[in-house]
Amino acid sequence: MERLHNFSAGPAMLPQSVLEQARDELLNWHGCGMSVMEMTHRGKDFFGIINQAEADLRELLNVPANYRVLFLQGGATLQFAQIPLNLLAGRSADYIVTGAWSKKAFKEAGKVGNARLAATTESSNFTRLPGAEEISLSNDAAYLHVCTNETVHGVEMHDIATLGASVTLVADMSSHILSRPVDVSKYGLIYGGAQKNIGPAGLTLVIVREDLLGKAPANLPTMLDYTVQAENGSMFNTPPTYSIYVAGLVFQWLKKQGGLAAIEQANIAKAKLLYEAIDASNLYHNPVEPSCRSRMNVPFTLKKDGLDEAFIVAAKQQGIVSIKGHKMVGGMRASIYNAMPLEGVQALVSFMQDFEAKN
Ligand SMILES: *Cc1c(COP(=O)(O)O)cnc(C)c1O
Repeated sequence: MERLHNFSAGPAMLPQSVLEQARDELLNWHGCGMSVMEMTHRGKDFFGIINQAEADLRELLNVPANYRVLFLQGGATLQFAQIPLNLLAGRSADYIVTGAWSKKAFKEAGKVGNARLAATTESSNFTRLPGAEEISLSNDAAYLHVCTNETVHGVEMHDIATLGASVTLVADMSSHILSRPVDVSKYGLIYGGAQKNIGPAGLTLVIVREDLLGKAPANLPTMLDYTVQAENGSMFNTPPTYSIYVAGLVFQWLKKQGGLAAIEQANIAKAKLLYEAIDASNLYHNPVEPSCRSRMNVPFTLKKDGLDEAFIVAAKQQGIVSIKGHKMVGGMRASIYNAMPLEGVQALVSFMQDFEAKN
């Protein structure tokens, strides 16, 4: 059977060569006589796997030495609470709300501490980013939280200069981490669930500057304490071993593609192809301001009523799946992460043109 063109927002496509390598190594990893799924996380084989994964990630993102890389669980959603629990230390934090995910992060932070709304673009239906003049920062915030790519609304921060240099930036990068080079030193903490652009679900990545550790209150449950996780090499308890292993294969695949500068060029080309097709059409519409359109998640609606279901059914006949939009936005959404080849986007665009001609 042919593999489908899978535009799922997450869990999402993985590179085919990664899946093939995982298959080839499934029963007997590197001659050790068992699967990675079956080996102890306390042995030298798994130490090798996790250490290599961290080293490759550090190389890809050029992570400075004073940052710790944590391989955690609970998804980005647990980070919405874990971040304020670790970093607030009795202070407040500022939140910029630019879409569904940062809105959730803000709400969750308010459950465990003092979260302040610094800006929101909700009245514009999350189709743009706030200008510098719309952002009101408090003087004593422990950090400023942003979501640099809004997966549901298709809004991406291509530039963080408007956010100011003096704040401790905390960024949810779940849906565009590793899609482009990032200056990690501009952030206090970067996090993301793995299942969009890193690897299988079950793994959550946190990259945190060392001086932000050690601020957690003494009654914080141990598993939620970044400092404990950092001191134990992300192995205070059993880590998601297989997800870490596959993420490591993805990091090696990215290095073979030429690293993040090269994958960024591929991502720009894919996004350009799709947005140009949408903008040139009379049927499809993307509501996001061009300057902040996401390269990873491309929502679009059909201007003619009652065609959505027919679009989805006809797409499936061409092997194009998981294209239905999030219910909050409606219409369609094509998620075109690193693993989506240009050919997949070409297939989608030619299907869309064909569908428009027939309708
Ligand atoms: C998917 C997503 C989340 C939630 O991730 P989970 O790992 O499912 O908790 C949070 N933020 C963004 C930007 C996302 O895309």
